[in-house]
Amino acid sequence: MSLNKLKFGSTIGIIGGGQLGKMMAQSAQKMGYKVIVLDPDKACPCQNVAHEFINANYDDQEALNKLGSLSDVITYEFENISASQLETLVSHYNIPQGYQAIQLLQDRLTEKQILQKSNCNIAPFVQLTNIEDLKDAISSIGYPFIVKTRFGGYDGKGQVLIEHSSDLNEAKKLIETEECVAEQYLKLNKEVSLTVTIGTNNQITYFPLQENEHRQQVLFKTVVPARTDDKIEQAARKEVQKLIANVHFVGTFTVEFFIDESGALYVNEIAPRPHNSGHYSIEACDYSQFDTHILAITGQQLPKEIELLKPAIMMNLLGKDLDLLENQFSEKPEWHIHIYGKQTRKANRKMGHLTVLTEDINQTEQSLLKAFEGREN
Ligand code: ADP
Ligand code: MG
Repeated sequence: MSLNKLKFGSTIGIIGGGQLGKMMAQSAQKMGYKVIVLDPDKACPCQNVAHEFINANYDDQEALNKLGSLSDVITYEFENISASQLETLVSHYNIPQGYQAIQLLQDRLTEKQILQKSNCNIAPFVQLTNIEDLKDAISSIGYPFIVKTRFGGYDGKGQVLIEHSSDLNEAKKLIETEECVAEQYLKLNKEVSLTVTIGTNNQITYFPLQENEHRQQVLFKTVVPARTDDKIEQAARKEVQKLIANVHFVGTFTVEFFIDESGALYVNEIAPRPHNSGHYSIEACDYSQFDTHILAITGQQLPKEIELLKPAIMMNLLGKDLDLLENQFSEKPEWHIHIYGKQTRKANRKMGHLTVLTEDINQTEQSLLKAFEGREN
């Protein structure tokens, strides 16, 4: 599909004003676009970088219409906006990403179903509508399995690991409040992710494969290029190609993968927006995941290939990491520090990240791990 080509100086409307919106806005402004952001939090990270700011809830129809009427194109930085409202907006305004990806991927059940339909490799799962369905999970998946709410989960929120029958009460509590899915808990060897941008005329551009370490289910560190066999990168691209045959994507998205102990690759989940594991691309690549996103939604040509200028390590800076490390920042020019500008610091809240470019990944990794050592997990 050929997308509307926007003139420089046009206005981009972003639903959501968190760090992803901020970094999108910064790329857009570099290219001469104006940015209007809608967010319920007056003190959100975008507040100081947007040309105009609409302070409203994500489901405030009047505010969404205002955003639409002031913008030449609309995008979003997070996937938990209402798919039906987005569908209505799509019929009135220029929203090249559409609503289908959001609709399918904000629900873990329909996400798994579309992955299955696309013949992607995923961990066995069972739908949990009520606590009776746990019997199915036990008989068809077996212990250990992980129960995840269908909607709204992120950074491990809305998930419980069920290792033995004695953990079932935790699962029951979750299912009684919300519909869930159960999925086999895999023995992981590694986690990787692939960030991809789809542009006008279905142009597709891949970022290099990213190796991710999570702690307490929150991304801790990303290493690029991933330390895996080349075949894994090719296999990951194949999974993405299968998926995009069935889902309408425009702009930047990321597919998260598991590699189990036998070396098998599984799709974990898809984020239909720029992703934390792609942040290294700001310094380490010739185009960042935000640059390519803006190029895509404004109908520009995408670069055919993304060049990794230097291997890189990205570490998230949670509140507790800032407490530990911020007095060292001034002595570490090799740490490219990003601070998102959130007003309230919390121990486990993502407050920023840092990226280090290096020719010696292993040595840099050791020294970063040492710096982060005092952090409780
Ligand atoms: P979120 O939306 O919170 O990112 P994920 O499903 O990606 O949810 O889970 C967060 C992390 O929890 C994963 O990156 C992985 O480390 C761990 N995890 C989740 N599901 C499984 C699983 N089925 N097997 C092993 N580890 C898992
Ligand atoms: Mg995840």
